Amino acid sequence: MKIFCVGRNYAKHAKELNNDVPSSPLIFMKPKTAILPNGLTFYYPEFSQNIHFEGEIVVRMNASIKSLEPKRVNKFITGVTVGIDFTARDIQDECKKNGHPWELAKSFDFSAALGDFVDMDLDELAESEIKVLKNKELVQHGFARDMMFDIPTVVSYISHRFTLHKGDLIYTGTPAGVGPVAKGDILELFLNDERLLVTDIK
Ligand code: ZN
Repeated sequence: MKIFCVGRNYAKHAKELNNDVPSSPLIFMKPKTAILPNGLTFYYPEFSQNIHFEGEIVVRMNASIKSLEPKRVNKFITGVTVGIDFTARDIQDECKKNGHPWELAKSFDFSAALGDFVDMDLDELAESEIKVLKNKELVQHGFARDMMFDIPTVVSYISHRFTLHKGDLIYTGTPAGVGPVAKGDILELFLNDERLLVTDIK
């Protein structure tokens, strides 16, 4: 199983981290050891002093496909949810400064919290809102329609470079409002008004 992630897919978030808006999707991967299922604790890793949450809409492939055109993507997605792309921002800043890859900052164990899946087609998803609450306070929200590269475009782009298999996941990027977590925090993620993911930090 593969996990793809999109960076800087909402213009406001790219700006809050002082990044340029990309001209094609910015793709990176996490290994399957990054998955943290809904309800489990995220243990703050000792190698970072600045772990950030990035709440994201996640879609799951339902078949093996390659070189899919955007208009055909809808048929090959079964299940959408929300997830957290946990990021060691201090390490990522070092990687960016040195022009190094991002895996040490993005792909460590349990860096991909994953909610429970619901059935929704991509037209409905495009009008859906993701919300992140930290300790019951709204810290992030965004609509799928505000993505710079919409989900059909992202999946098509990935599929022209990597064969996708049933069960592969795509984290579709984070809206503005990312921020640090601390031990004791509780993160709750909603898709529209449905709470699909809860993670506590220890
Ligand atoms: Zn992200």
